[in-house]
Amino acid sequence: MRTPQSENDPRPHILDLTPSELSVWLSEHGYPKFRLGQILGWLYERRAESFADMTDLPARLRSELEQAFRLWTAGIHTHQRADDGTEKLLLNLADGGRVECVLLRDGLRRSICVSSQVGCAMGCVFCASGLDGVDRNLSRGEILEQMLRLQRLLPEEERLSHIVMMGMGEPLANLDSVLSALEVAKSPEGLGISPRRITISTVGLPAAIDRLAKHATPFHLAISLHAPTDTLRDDLVPVNRKVGVHKILDAADRYFNATGRRLTFEYVLLDGINDSPECAAQLVRLLRGRVSMLNVIPYNPVAGLPYQTPDASRVHEFRNILVDGGINVQFRQRKGSGIDAACGQLRRKRELIDIETPTGNAS
Ligand code: SAH
Repeated sequence: MRTPQSENDPRPHILDLTPSELSVWLSEHGYPKFRLGQILGWLYERRAESFADMTDLPARLRSELEQAFRLWTAGIHTHQRADDGTEKLLLNLADGGRVECVLLRDGLRRSICVSSQVGCAMGCVFCASGLDGVDRNLSRGEILEQMLRLQRLLPEEERLSHIVMMGMGEPLANLDSVLSALEVAKSPEGLGISPRRITISTVGLPAAIDRLAKHATPFHLAISLHAPTDTLRDDLVPVNRKVGVHKILDAADRYFNATGRRLTFEYVLLDGINDSPECAAQLVRLLRGRVSMLNVIPYNPVAGLPYQTPDASRVHEFRNILVDGGINVQFRQRKGSGIDAACGQLRRKRELIDIETPTGNAS
């Protein structure tokens, strides 16, 4: 999958090319092999904003690169910053699609949350990303561009430390582009982030989990469970009707056996829906004995949707049942809530505002 061309710019996206494809291009244009390392260095380490910035390349190569490729294909539509240091970008893609990506600061950690698709087809009823279905997959270059845009928000001495594929979209429905982008993210010539610090979050698609298990790089896998039974999960995560909780857990176990990586299960707490003591007890029975971490996420309310976050005492009760049941559980803090940081929320809001302001320039 390649980045769509914008109407008036037919040049391909340089980030869509793998290092070996770029190497072929260089040799076809008469440049020695070591130029590849220099270009990758400028893209991933030295944070060039343009080909002109790549000052140790010969001027002729810089101008040939400029003629042949685009370095950026997306425009920044909105840039928000919350008091806790979280920053969020809403990007306008070449074909007019929009995706979001987020930089989170936590102590020394500099984590980024990246989108894999424009919209989402999974239909989780509480999530803003999938309200209008899926538009298309992002290309490798568009996934990498989000990472590089966020990296360039950091001061020079700071590096990205973690990546989570938890933005818009279902990464396992666009696995080729996601893996191609993550290979560069983990490579020392790319962003140099250990695969242990790269998380792929999925609604749970067993065939794709099995494919991922066979992939040479064992990334960290997070499964968005959100319900302990099929009856409840079929309602909250409609794609579950075709799969079922047990098939997902079996695939997760195979992933664990193949990679030795501890699994993460995600559980968004929705007031009065999946937060009962009975749900907690069912979760204990479901997860007991697995080498896993249960991440309980407070719901980030989405405008127009009826779901709410439970109050503290209910969360406390839920937690105690899990802890007493011997489940490894962590209750995540909400970050960036002042800036609509839950996936798909900013795009949603912009769409609502843009409809009201015909210029589309509402920031
Ligand atoms: N499709 C993938 C990755 C994207 S969503 C997946 O389902 O895992 C990343 C996580 O954020 C998922 O667990 C998702 O259910 C959760 N999420 C979606 N909307 C949310 C909201 N409004 N508040 C809190 N978490 C949300």
